[in-house]
Amino acid sequence: MKVAVTGGTGFVGGRLVDALLNRGDEVTIISRTSSLRHERTGLKQITWEDLAKSPEILEGIDAIVNLAGESINQKWTESAKVRILQSRLDAAEQIEKLVASLQQKPDVVVNASGISIYGTSTDKIFDEESPINVNDFLSAVSQKWEAAADRINISRLVKVRVGVVLASDDGAFPKMLMPYRLFAGGKIGTGKQWLSWIHIEDMVRLLLFCIDNSQIKGPINASAPEPVTNDRFGRALGAAFHKPHWFPVPGFMMKLMFGELSTLLLEGQRAVPGKALNNGFEFHYPTIKSAMENIAVHNG
Ligand code: NDP
Repeated sequence: MKVAVTGGTGFVGGRLVDALLNRGDEVTIISRTSSLRHERTGLKQITWEDLAKSPEILEGIDAIVNLAGESINQKWTESAKVRILQSRLDAAEQIEKLVASLQQKPDVVVNASGISIYGTSTDKIFDEESPINVNDFLSAVSQKWEAAADRINISRLVKVRVGVVLASDDGAFPKMLMPYRLFAGGKIGTGKQWLSWIHIEDMVRLLLFCIDNSQIKGPINASAPEPVTNDRFGRALGAAFHKPHWFPVPGFMMKLMFGELSTLLLEGQRAVPGKALNNGFEFHYPTIKSAMENIAVHNG
C-alpha cells in the first residue's frame, strides 16, 4: 500500500510511519522540510511546495493521513492561536487540492481532529453521535479543522477525534509526570475534570484500522474506553510510578502560570470510542491502570 503522511515527523506521525514501514507499506512524508531524519527503505519525504508544484508525484497513492499542525503546547498568544488554527486549515486545503488534481483518487483520507470538538463538560458522555459544541478555542479549532476536511472530495473521509495521547517519552505525558518525579503530584483544580486519553500504541493501531477498514467513515473517537477524572488519572500515575498523589494545584495558579493554555488541564470532556468498539477494534490498553503500568515500565 502507498500512504502519504503529513505530520509524519511528529510524535504520533513518526510512530505511524514506523508501523506502516514495518508492515511493508511505502510511505511519503509531506513536511515543511525535505531532509529525512532517518533513511529507511520505502520512505520518502517531500515538501508542501513540491506537492503544490507537482501533485502528480503522489499519483497512485492509496491513503493520505493528515496529522500536520502547529503544536498547541505553547502559550496561547494571539499570534500562536492564529498559527495553531491556520496551519491546520492550510494543510487540509492542500490535501483538498491534491485529491482534486489526482487522476486516481485515494481510497481514504484520514484527517486528525480533537475530542475537544464536543466542548467541555463534567457530566456528559460523548460518542460520535454527540453534537459538536463550540465553547472554547480548542473546540473552535477542531470544528473548523473538520469543516476544512469535509471539503476534500473523497468517498471515504475519516475524522479521527484524538484524545490525549500517552507515551513514556513524548507528547503531554512527560510534562504530566514531572511534578510526581519531584514528589509534588496531585489533583489540578477541582480534579473532577475529565481526561479522555489513549495509549500511543493503540493510537497508531487505530489509525491503521481506519486506513484498512472500508466501513470506517466520518468521525471516530480515538480515546480509550475508560476516560478518567484528573484526580483518578493522578492516582493511577502515582501508583504506577510509586510516587505520592497529594499536592493539589489550585486552578488560579494554573491560570497565572499558563494563561488560556491552562484550560487544557482545568477542563475536559468524557469521550468514549463507540465507533471503534462497535467495529471490532480491540484496545491493548483499555484501562488507565494498564496504560500507566506499561508506560512506567518503559520509563525505566
Ligand atoms: P506534533 O506536534 O508532534 O507533530 C505535528 C507535525 O505537524 C510536526 O511534526 C510538523 O511536521 C507539523 N507542523 C508543526 N507546526 C506546523 C506548522 N506551523 N505548519 C504546518 N505544519 C506544522 O503532533 P502530534 O503528533 O502530537 O499530533 C498529531 C496531530 O494530532 C496534531 O495535529 C494534533 O493537533 C492532533 N492531536 C494530538 C494529540 C496528542 O495528544 N498528541 C491530542 C489531540 C489531537 P513538519 O515539521 O514535518 O512539517
